[in-house]
Amino acid sequence: MSIVVSNVTKTYGKQKALHAVSFEIKTGEILGFLGPNGAGKSTMMKIITTYLPQTEGTVEVCGFDLAESPLEVRKRVGYLPEHNPLYLEMYVREYLEFVAGLTQSPKSRVDEMIALTGLTPEKTKKIGQLSKGYRQRVGIAQALLHDPEVLILDEPTSGLDPNQLVGIRDLIKSIGKTKTIMLSTHIMQEVEALCDRVIIINKGEIQTDNTIASLKSLGNRSKIKVTFEEVREYKPLHTIEGVHEVSDLGGGAFLLTCDAEKQINKRIFDFAVKHDLTIIEITKQEVSMENVFQSLTKS
Ligand code: ADP
Ligand code: MG
Repeated sequence: MSIVVSNVTKTYGKQKALHAVSFEIKTGEILGFLGPNGAGKSTMMKIITTYLPQTEGTVEVCGFDLAESPLEVRKRVGYLPEHNPLYLEMYVREYLEFVAGLTQSPKSRVDEMIALTGLTPEKTKKIGQLSKGYRQRVGIAQALLHDPEVLILDEPTSGLDPNQLVGIRDLIKSIGKTKTIMLSTHIMQEVEALCDRVIIINKGEIQTDNTIASLKSLGNRSKIKVTFEEVREYKPLHTIEGVHEVSDLGGGAFLLTCDAEKQINKRIFDFAVKHDLTIIEITKQEVSMENVFQSLTKS
């Protein structure tokens, strides 16, 4: 395990930003930390990177406890903070050399990271002259200089245009081949594009911790509302192949959660014929990954 978070609570004055949060990140994983604004994503990341102490609970990074060995943790963690604070007056190379000095990284790492993050054509510019996409590359290069095992990226693609977005996603993917990455976002598609697993957080609490594949299978369900003319009769709708859940809405109406496949309508009609029932209305709604996210984070 690269990161083990156990029962972490964080309060700012009276406000609780995290409530007894627990999760683990396996070595080599790219984990998406997904949630709406104010969910507690940045707070959790500041704690893991030792910038903010937790109020309760424990965190281990690469086997080191945060409270006991913060320096060991810092050696092993690279961090791109949310608003990527950079010295705009400094030149790209000058800034990275400065950070290399602070983190006692070999000077040779500067050129290596410039090449790795695609900054070679921009390396002689001032940071203030760079586009947002290239500034993010500088932030990622900075986070990688001391060759950490774990990379914490707080909303690395927010505010980028579509081309910059693709560039930064490709970079994160390639870095993810050799590092453990935790990245936060409020965009579901980002998680689908980059991550192996997703943790959805809302109001300081974890709503789901799942692989993308199983979340997608939830997203492949659809909801069908079917209304029969006959109100009182018992209807074993759950026996229809592909129907997973049945809720009785009253008045002859039922909401079915089923596999999103074409034959499902035919099976419902066949069921009606077999049981001598009349369908007076049938409507369908697809459940997308977006719907899954919304239903897990709505207040
Ligand atoms: P996210 O990154 O998911 O948008 P944050 O971790 O920034 O969420 O914030 C979680 C909650 O904690 C929010 O309600 C926010 O207003 C509050 N919060 C964050 N930082 C502070 C702070 N320094 N002082 C007081 N409240 C804060
Ligand atoms: Mg944030």
